[in-house]
Amino acid sequence: MSERILLSNLTMLESGTPVPSQLLVADGRVEAISRGRSSALDGVQATRIDLGGALLTPGLVDLHDHLREPGQEEKETIATGTAAAARGGWTTVCAMPNTDPDPHNPELMARLLQRIASSAKVKVLPYSPITVGLTSEEPVDPEAMVDAGAVAFSNDGKGVQSAGVMYDAMRAAAHHGRPVAAHAEDNSLVRGGVINDGPKARELDLPGITGLAETVQVVRDLAIAEVTGAHYHLCHASTRQSIRALRRAQADGVRATAEASPHHLLLADADIPADDGFYKMNPPLRARCDVEAIVEGLRDGTLCAIATDNAPHTAAEKDCSFRDAAFGVITNEHTFALLYTSFVLAGRFRLDQLVHWLTEGPSDAYQLGDAGRIRVGGPADLAAFDLTREVAIDPDRFSGKGRNTPFAGRRVLGDCVFTMVDGAVVHRFTTPEPTDLTCDRKDRA
Ligand SMILES: [Zn+2]
Repeated sequence: MSERILLSNLTMLESGTPVPSQLLVADGRVEAISRGRSSALDGVQATRIDLGGALLTPGLVDLHDHLREPGQEEKETIATGTAAAARGGWTTVCAMPNTDPDPHNPELMARLLQRIASSAKVKVLPYSPITVGLTSEEPVDPEAMVDAGAVAFSNDGKGVQSAGVMYDAMRAAAHHGRPVAAHAEDNSLVRGGVINDGPKARELDLPGITGLAETVQVVRDLAIAEVTGAHYHLCHASTRQSIRALRRAQADGVRATAEASPHHLLLADADIPADDGFYKMNPPLRARCDVEAIVEGLRDGTLCAIATDNAPHTAAEKDCSFRDAAFGVITNEHTFALLYTSFVLAGRFRLDQLVHWLTEGPSDAYQLGDAGRIRVGGPADLAAFDLTREVAIDPDRFSGKGRNTPFAGRRVLGDCVFTMVDGAVVHRFTTPEPTDLTCDRKDRA
């Protein structure tokens, strides 16, 4: 049965500028795109969805999500975590393996993929851990995990403390053509820290984590990547030194990519208002000069993606002091809106740059094919954002279980109003009254 859906009253980026467009979906794929004011698709037989002038983009691709299932369903589940992703416009998410149990053998991976098949609302690509349990030194069988469906390898949440283990993991990953994604953190430098080591730590009388905890592992890992030829991917780059090291390594031909997290772009440690666990994350919010280095790293291509590190926790785990709170924050239901408002509207990023870092950038880094792009014949994985209506971020209305965002109450434009996966609508928000007219809608009126 062929269902055809005509998405109308939307804009799409053309050479960086939103232009009025229509897009026809059939059998879960993009059948036709009509750009410009001509309406070649006006007469087609199809169910119509009016997107109210919203910006249509490829579905967003998140290289770094935490779905918590199995084992931590009180925090999130595959169903609720992917509902949250859909709410934010993400149509492909790579799920980190710090679950209980972690998917460290083909049987566990097969069970995880079954759960994903039965309850996920968006496409989920699971990571294999690098080592069993993420803490031990016992490596997984990389070949078996690739065959079982692992998109890449990561011990996210924990740094790999042994250079030898990382060396073996990268040698195997190079052989199998899969990235090793690193949460770079040398435990010997953490020293019980809960916040960035700096003036804010002293002001709040909290133990600090030096940026060196990240940087020294990044430098080590880049050296290993150079020797092994592996694709090394740095998760949530947070220090200016690690970005500088990446830039140099890339110039030397090392196969290294990196992601920025929304919270490390939006906040510095100086922005932490009080000893409030909602601002606790790992790596911690860094100094303003580190934030600027992340921004510059995206602009010059050292970093290729923005990935959420979405980390849901229960209220009890976050609504407390830094000393007691769990690490991690929620941003994925409003990532685009937060960054659009703070960076695009502020003139610091171009709109097409932001879209690239959320779509093609991550897709190309992990060679995910059609994910993150729109092409005729390709899967209809799409998202639409209302650039004209201002909303306040309200955790009580989140689709996921996690409420632990430091951005509650923040007013943003660019809310995700529509998400489609393989031609199926997985999120849709319609306003009760017409939104403000965008320029191009005014032009057409
Ligand atoms: Zn991490």
